[in-house]
Amino acid sequence: MANDSTKQIQHENVIILGAGPAGLVAALYAARAELNPFVLTGMELGGQASLTNVIENYPGFPDGVSGSQLGEMFQHQAEKFGARFEFDAATEVDFRQTPFHIKTYGKEFTANAVILATGASPVKLNVPGEELLTGRGVSYCATCDGWFFKNKEVVVVGGGDSALEEGLFLTRFASKVRIVHRRDALRASALLQKRALENEKIEFIFDSVVEKINGEGKVASVDLRNVKTGQVTNLPTDGVFVFIGHTPNTALYKGQLEMDERGFLKVDEKMQTSVAGVFAAGEVGDPMYRQVVTSAGFGAAAAIQVTRYLEDR
Ligand code: NAP
Repeated sequence: MANDSTKQIQHENVIILGAGPAGLVAALYAARAELNPFVLTGMELGGQASLTNVIENYPGFPDGVSGSQLGEMFQHQAEKFGARFEFDAATEVDFRQTPFHIKTYGKEFTANAVILATGASPVKLNVPGEELLTGRGVSYCATCDGWFFKNKEVVVVGGGDSALEEGLFLTRFASKVRIVHRRDALRASALLQKRALENEKIEFIFDSVVEKINGEGKVASVDLRNVKTGQVTNLPTDGVFVFIGHTPNTALYKGQLEMDERGFLKVDEKMQTSVAGVFAAGEVGDPMYRQVVTSAGFGAAAAIQVTRYLEDR
């Protein structure tokens, strides 16, 4: 990393990148261990969870809790014990030297230990029209954009828990929700399948993929291809919501930390990446569970291991 000698470098004991459930709970545990953690939140406070309208499977909330509310509570609890937060994102890291170096848009930091909790982002369809019409009818967040589709018809792409959960949420606004899935069997949990199948506003289109999104300035229709027959049909729609999985936010660490073939960080049983002193928590290194409760748990584990690492030094 190039050093600008005129710039002040802020030294921190522990820097946490990311403020989703993993980063926030790591901050809470690190603060309670008196490690004086400093969190660079990134641009999405609360992480992906904050985009979820209602989380029904986080223990302790039998009536559900909104993702953003849960995130705020996590942050409040961490701050109560001394964790500090800055709304800024890392743009460059150097883990080849200690203390580790981190640059953001405006600042430069060093840290004795780092916890990476930068999470994951939605996978795109990568079809013509998608990029051009994003924000003009193409969306990756029902909680954010559902309201714009009052009494309109939308297409939801995917067959997992996200597609069904978000599809169900969209029935509050849309007059029709068509869930397009590439197979004839859903991946989603039985409970969500039951709710979606029972919902009169939801229609399933199986064995089909979106090949193209059409519209001038806003979404007007999608071209669907039946993967079994090869037949292409045009389906008029006002919106396209894409929920086909997530990809880890690890581009920043390429060439410095070991990753699997999909880009998830390799993390050992002590939550440590391939570099001693650099730990990871949550979806950035978890292709398996990807739940708010597991990410929160990994955040706690990473902070416990950072405590041991710094004590050993
Ligand atoms: P997911 O489980 O990976 O499902 C992705 C879906 O998108 C699958 O149905 C997949 O089809 C389809 N898909 C993937 N790539 C595609 C492409 N290029 N074109 C068309 N379709 C494509 O992802 P998710 O639904 O986001 O869930 C992620 C994790 O979060 C899961 O562990 C899930 O259980 C969890 N989650 C839980 C809840 C809850 O508990 N309430 C809510 C949301 C998410 P195939 O089935 O053919 O692979």
